[in-house]
Amino acid sequence: MTDPKVGIDGSTFAPSRLRITGHTRVVGVIGHPVRHSLSPAIHNAGFRSSGSDHVYVAFDVPEGSATSALEAVRILDLAGLSVTMPHKAVIARSVDSLVESARRLDSVNTVEVSESGELIGHSTDGDGLIASMLANDVSVNAKSVVVFGAGGAGRSVVDALARHGAERILVVNRSFDAAERAADLGRGRAEARSLVDTSMREDIARCDIVINASSVGMRGVSEGRTPFDVDLLPKASVVVDLVYHPLRTALLERAHARGCRTLDGLGMLVHQAALQQVIWTGLQPDVKEMTEAAVQALQ
Ligand code: NAP
Repeated sequence: MTDPKVGIDGSTFAPSRLRITGHTRVVGVIGHPVRHSLSPAIHNAGFRSSGSDHVYVAFDVPEGSATSALEAVRILDLAGLSVTMPHKAVIARSVDSLVESARRLDSVNTVEVSESGELIGHSTDGDGLIASMLANDVSVNAKSVVVFGAGGAGRSVVDALARHGAERILVVNRSFDAAERAADLGRGRAEARSLVDTSMREDIARCDIVINASSVGMRGVSEGRTPFDVDLLPKASVVVDLVYHPLRTALLERAHARGCRTLDGLGMLVHQAALQQVIWTGLQPDVKEMTEAAVQALQ
């Protein structure tokens, strides 16, 4: 066996599995800023694990240039694209067609290039969360779920929870208007609450699952803060934090100390990336190897 080497993305690899030739296909992420993205480490580990002849790179594309980047996909014959802030909505309006969830969310995080060259927009965030929960034996079917946050992440979570059979979804957000717009994605099973509405305390006390899809708790923004009073949580509840900077947030630490099951944000990040790779290559990557690469890149 060959010795592992350290790749430019910081992860280790066996040299025999990173052979770039004239046949190697390129996939990239467009975003701004994008240089600190974990996606290159996660995706290149995934491609190596499935044996796909693809490499993944980051393209820093300023606001206003997303449609030019789509043209570049065609001209450079890229095999696909990840899309992150601030381009998700513009790309949703610029691709040739959208799958149902991307159309409902008006947001695209994945561009598929079909055999005929059509650019198809997908949104894998919500399904990535559901897949990561199922990988931990947590089903949302018939469950009562409280979602904090109603931005891009919160909206994709509400849409996915409703599609996967959650019985009741409470969307709690600082701005009530955004909470209402997110609850509209809940197929009649979601309600909106403002963060200052004290009636949500009873909903938390009765829920099965709480998901933090707000940015509260993020490093450099509000690290150490929790989006709600953790003492309200039922001990049997599952708490998921989408924030992954830091990996163990104050919410997860306190919920764990209270006896709740906790799932960190890397699960969704890695599983949504695995779903992207299936779209681009038709091959299922090894989620464990992708997770290890993400943890290594976070250090
Ligand atoms: P976004 O569109 O900017 O939305 C931010 C959300 O957080 C909004 O609901 C906002 O409320 C709320 N918020 C921000 N500051 C707050 C505060 N001080 N108090 C209460 N609420 C506050 O961002 P996003 O894309 O949805 O991302 C949200 C978080 O999820 C980020 O930490 C991001 O890193 C994480 N995320 C993780 C994954 C993953 O795969 N694990 C994927 C996507 C996102 P208002 O509407 O009132 O402003």
